[in-house]
Amino acid sequence: MPLGFMLFSVTPMLRKFSTILVPMAVLFAAWVIVFQIPLLSPEKQGLVPLAPYLLHFVGMLLAWHFRRGRVFLALLAVGVCYYLFRTQLVHGTDTPEAWLIYRVLMVVVPFNILLIALMREKGVWTMAGRMRLSFVAVQIFAVWMTVRLDQHAVWVALTRPLVNWPALGRFAMPQLSLVLILLAACVALLRAVSLGSPIEGSMFACCVTLFVVFRWLWSPHVPETFCAASALIQIMAVIQDSYNMAFRDDLTGLLSRRVLNERLAGLGSRYAIAMVDVDHFKNFNDTHGHDVGDQVLKMVGARLMDIKGGGSPFRYGGEEFTVLFPGKSAKEAHPHLEQLRLAIADYRMTLRGEDRPKDEERGKSRRSGSRNSGEVSVTVSIGVAEPGERHGTPRDVLKAADEALYKAKNKGRNQTCLAGGR
Ligand code: GH3
Ligand code: MG
Ligand code: MG
Repeated sequence: MPLGFMLFSVTPMLRKFSTILVPMAVLFAAWVIVFQIPLLSPEKQGLVPLAPYLLHFVGMLLAWHFRRGRVFLALLAVGVCYYLFRTQLVHGTDTPEAWLIYRVLMVVVPFNILLIALMREKGVWTMAGRMRLSFVAVQIFAVWMTVRLDQHAVWVALTRPLVNWPALGRFAMPQLSLVLILLAACVALLRAVSLGSPIEGSMFACCVTLFVVFRWLWSPHVPETFCAASALIQIMAVIQDSYNMAFRDDLTGLLSRRVLNERLAGLGSRYAIAMVDVDHFKNFNDTHGHDVGDQVLKMVGARLMDIKGGGSPFRYGGEEFTVLFPGKSAKEAHPHLEQLRLAIADYRMTLRGEDRPKDEERGKSRRSGSRNSGEVSVTVSIGVAEPGERHGTPRDVLKAADEALYKAKNKGRNQTCLAGGR
């Protein structure tokens, strides 16, 4: 099970922040390791500089395989940066060539990371992906041209201080690098927290890595350890992202039916299963459009993620959801389901502009509940069951919960019914 998964199950908020917290934990471990490397035998220390090459290579293969073009490009940028550092700059910037390479790296790498942070995913070998790779080639050509034409002054100008603020000197890197890294980090952070995507979290880690590596470029073991950690974080992000794609529902972020089936097979003898179904959702879609319908499903998914009492929510399919309560009876699960039902019924969604129903009278009559023309709300019906004489297996219990759900529908909707009860 991928590392982030345990955290991901706790709350949606923690899930979003874990996209940042997990990479930060790895970078913290890298910082600790920097001080442990000198304690290794000289032979083992000699292997450390190879780790970033290996991890970048594996990461790029993985990113290629899973069509993660942004990760591929970020690994390429940091990988090339590390290679040039090891081969050209490891002894400092005493020669004019080393100075030039240093200045080029300090501008080009953060510039590319900022572009990658701003990009949308478009694959590796797609048309857009190839254009992006061509842009990398154009940059290499442009750098080469400045060297051929003896235009080193371009790089000197780009790495000159932007403002006369001596305090910035402590960062030991050109001010432009600092600005570009900071901008990229802000974009990645915002995207990581708003989208909850591990890939965005790994982009933020990449920015932190660049900052640390540039700041402590000649400190023993810093570039190797941090470049390796950054590549490892991107590998983990690609794996986590693929896991999410396979096992999570894209729209709501809830675990999918595939995981539900696995969990059903692994339940003990005491548990409750609830089926949750949005009321009159077909009418809702017809009135407000499919996009607003999708927004409602997202809202219901978010309320489901907040369910208390140890319930695990899943998207069963369409506008139907399942909640598993391991170790609980149906009666014990009932108050938590009622809390969920009320939270959904009380939630008001504001419609804007073109989302508003065109035919207001029709909208009013068809929607399951609304306060005014700009607000809509939905209700859900819930059926809950537990193992009993008539239904022994989890499949039977799920069926019983479904029957209880239809009882709730027949009784007027917006209510929770227990299987076998009234
Ligand atoms: P009831 O109260 O009896 O449950 O009525 P209902 O209209 O909710 O029931 P029904 O099962 O007939 O309709 C379900 C509708 O849900 C049909 C489909 O248009 C809609 N739906 C299913 N999946 C999605 C989805 O992913 N997005 C949107 N927007 N609508 C969906
Ligand atoms: Mg339905
Ligand atoms: Mg329905």
